[in-house]
Amino acid sequence: MPQSLGGSDEPDNLALACHRCNERHYNFTSGIDPQTQEEIPLFNPRQQQWSDHFIWTKDGTKIFGTTPTGRATCNRFDLNDERRDEPSIQIARRFWVAAGWHPPQSDPRQE
Ligand SMILES: [Zn+2]
Repeated sequence: MPQSLGGSDEPDNLALACHRCNERHYNFTSGIDPQTQEEIPLFNPRQQQWSDHFIWTKDGTKIFGTTPTGRATCNRFDLNDERRDEPSIQIARRFWVAAGWHPPQSDPRQE
């Protein structure tokens, strides 16, 4: 829960996030599932398992939601930079894959 919506700054209300995700999260708590156009609560890393809602492409450069929660979260955060002039996150991920840093071993990946 964002502080601007009454959330606390206690550790149990915080999540470690990169600058991009923090900025795109803003004070949103929901997103639109592009498959159904329904408004869905965003993924909550304190209460939900990442691997239950997201999958990486085989090459590790794109992430997709596998549930309404995952799809709404990908859409809200533009996790593949598809609404940007340049998909810089996909370019960065390509280097991380080449270096053996990405995606995390525990994350599901398309066959
Ligand atoms: Zn991030």
